[in-house]
Formats: sequence, C-alpha cells, structure tokens
Amino acid sequence: MKFCQGPKCHQYKTKDRIKGTKGNKTYQTRRKSSMYYGGGNFCSFQCYNDWANEFADRAIDHFGRTTTAKHLTEQNAWYKDYTWNSNNDTVYIYINGITKEQRPLTKEQYSDKSYTLNTGE
Ligand SMILES: [Zn+2]
Repeated sequence: MKFCQGPKCHQYKTKDRIKGTKGNKTYQTRRKSSMYYGGGNFCSFQCYNDWANEFADRAIDHFGRTTTAKHLTEQNAWYKDYTWNSNNDTVYIYINGITKEQRPLTKEQYSDKSYTLNTGE
C-alpha cells in the first residue's frame, strides 16, 4: 500500500477519502496497492497534474532540462513491434522508423526493456 503523491489529494471531498474513527473523521490522502497515473504514484490524473503544476519545474531542473531539439535519426529510430505470420504465430520485429529496415527479434529481446539497437537519444 502506498499513498497518492498528489499534494491536494486530501482536498478532494470524495466518500472514499473519509477516514478515521467516529467523531474524528477527516478527508485523507488516498492509499492504494496500485495506482495507474504518473508511474503508479498518483490515484488520478487530477492528482498527477496537481503534482506537475507544483513540482515539474524543479523536477526537470533536477533531472535535466531539454534546452535543444532532439533529433530522430537512423541511429535512434529503432522501435519494437510484433505481427503475425501465416501460421498465426506472433513474430517480433525491430523496425527503423527512418530507414524502414526490419530485423527479427526474439520474444526475450522484445520483452527486455534494456535491449535496444538505438545508439543515441
Ligand atoms: Zn490522489
């Protein structure tokens, strides 16, 4: 169980946020085992957006602000995809978004988030 990181989560008056003993009830930050927004850190898009409005500038300055245009080139245009062959088997492929070249991928390579043919950002 983890808490929603939305700075205003407790300010949204929904029934499920009312917690506490009788006579001591308050609206509280949501706590869930799984959340679907902002990498699993926020209970709703609203809470995600509240966080971004308050902290995005500082977070971007901390992790590195984009100050020049990035370029999609042959070296970083590879993306993974899958299709089906005539036997209806799943076929995993790497496609270059610039050259349209295709290369075969194993299922393991497809699932491995660190496996890439890209050599730049
Ligand atoms: Zn929330």
